[in-house]
Amino acid sequence: MSQQLGGQQIIILRQGTTRNRGQEAQNNNITAAKAVAAAVRSTLGPKGMDKMLIDNMGEIVITNDGATILQEMDIEHPVAKMMVEIAKTQDKEVGDGTTSAVILAGELLKNAENLLEQRIHPTVIAEGYQKAAEKSLEILNGIAVAVKPGDHAMLKRVAETAISGKGAEAYKDLLCTMVVQAITRVTDPDGTVDIGHVNVQKKVGGAVEDTVLIEGMVVDKERAHPGMPKEVKNAKILLINAALEYKKTEVSAKINITRPEQVQAFLDEDEQMVHAMADKIIKTGATVVFCQKGIDDVAQHYLSKAGIFAARRLKKSDMENLARATGATIVSTIDAITPSDLGSAGLVEEKKLSESDMIFVSKCKNPKAVSLIIRGGSEHVVEELERAIHDALMVVSVVVKEKKIVPGGGAPEIEVSLQLHRYAATVGGRIQLAIEAFAKGLEIIPRTLAENAGLDPIDMIVAIRAAHEAGNRTFGLDVIAGKPVDMLKSGVVEPLKVKTQAISSAAEAAVMILRIDDVIASARTAGPSGGMPPGGMG
Ligand code: ADP
Ligand code: MG
Repeated sequence: MSQQLGGQQIIILRQGTTRNRGQEAQNNNITAAKAVAAAVRSTLGPKGMDKMLIDNMGEIVITNDGATILQEMDIEHPVAKMMVEIAKTQDKEVGDGTTSAVILAGELLKNAENLLEQRIHPTVIAEGYQKAAEKSLEILNGIAVAVKPGDHAMLKRVAETAISGKGAEAYKDLLCTMVVQAITRVTDPDGTVDIGHVNVQKKVGGAVEDTVLIEGMVVDKERAHPGMPKEVKNAKILLINAALEYKKTEVSAKINITRPEQVQAFLDEDEQMVHAMADKIIKTGATVVFCQKGIDDVAQHYLSKAGIFAARRLKKSDMENLARATGATIVSTIDAITPSDLGSAGLVEEKKLSESDMIFVSKCKNPKAVSLIIRGGSEHVVEELERAIHDALMVVSVVVKEKKIVPGGGAPEIEVSLQLHRYAATVGGRIQLAIEAFAKGLEIIPRTLAENAGLDPIDMIVAIRAAHEAGNRTFGLDVIAGKPVDMLKSGVVEPLKVKTQAISSAAEAAVMILRIDDVIASARTAGPSGGMPPGGMG
């Protein structure tokens, strides 16, 4: 850029830098944000469609999940990238509502565009949007319904709503029952839940109906030695985080070997040490050993001779979940093992699952970690199933933690919209217009649900609004019947937090984008890894 100063031009930006300012910058940014929202619109709701994404390596992903779609799309525009961030945050925090958050942000910006055209200053719009978002959270809290973590029927409905419209929907009864059971199992007495304690394994093969929940752990490993038993009943389990092998001394010592017997004696000594280690383990009474590090040939030999089932080089997360599933404590030195460190399981066995051997630790007494093995005819099926199950696990865990739900199907958006309109009238001034634009923006959710179901969006919105004005605050869109019904009765329910998070992050992103009136992009330089030297390839 350049500036005139006393007739002399002063250039402060590097050559090649592009700059967009004012209205033009705003228009560009809003257009980019709307484009991202438009890209995921058709996937929203129980009648939403899937997308097939093919990357530059020819890898295919078929999905209905907003966050996954945006992640797989190679998005470049900086503002579009901010929209992708909303989906990512939403996914990380609550696991669901990603498409809704992005669509809402797009709509809020579209409505802001109208206000900008009426010469309302962006900061006024931003302030109105912030006020509206705050008020929305208050209204949502007011319509939320309390749920007890023991209400499994309600938790199952939350899971079902999360996977409706996804490929997994046809099996929702089976899958959601498992999801609720899994979360209930891994919930700690103080009410904390970490879905990391549900160990999800994908195995292509079989049918979706073969998906199972194991009350214990499934480890993608084989036993260390073929001489070991394939199956151990009433297993006493040792979890060890130290190598069962001869450790070469840290200080390098020079050993002078002059005769062949000395070599043997030297090797014997190593073997003696490992033998002693194995003996100590055998003496603990353990019948199954899971080791996070290596187990060398000699140790394998002695353990298998003692009839012990052992596996080595387990992942840290698997070790932790094994501890939760079996009640064992992970020990880090062999000398410190006490009987109370051992865990138990009714059955430990190595079984084949679709060509590969896996270790099943099942029939655990009170497992605080469980495993879900996802099956299906192809990789795409299994992967989309995994995403759906992840969403379901997340929403159920969110409800167990937060204990609040709201009806779905556009019911909360219409209710918040109506109450916001009333609130706007009390605010007055130009800010009122912004709050009204926000209220109108929320209608995009029921409108899109209707559109995707092939229903007339205007008729549907009018009908739901009328129901709410008559005091039926839980009425949302029944996409099959094409009319408003009580969503609580028909079991379309979502965690409160999915809605609050979606509204606040959509509002935040919209405000952030609105405040930008100057986009300065430096000229792209070829990085150290990219680009070609002048003259190109020789
Ligand atoms: P998101 O990524 O935003 O979760 P979805 O495609 O999962 O997108 O759609 C979520 C929307 O669909 C929510 O507004 C939810 O209330 C609604 N919904 C889910 N199941 C039903 C149903 N059976 N009937 C009506 N609306 C539903
Ligand atoms: Mg969803």
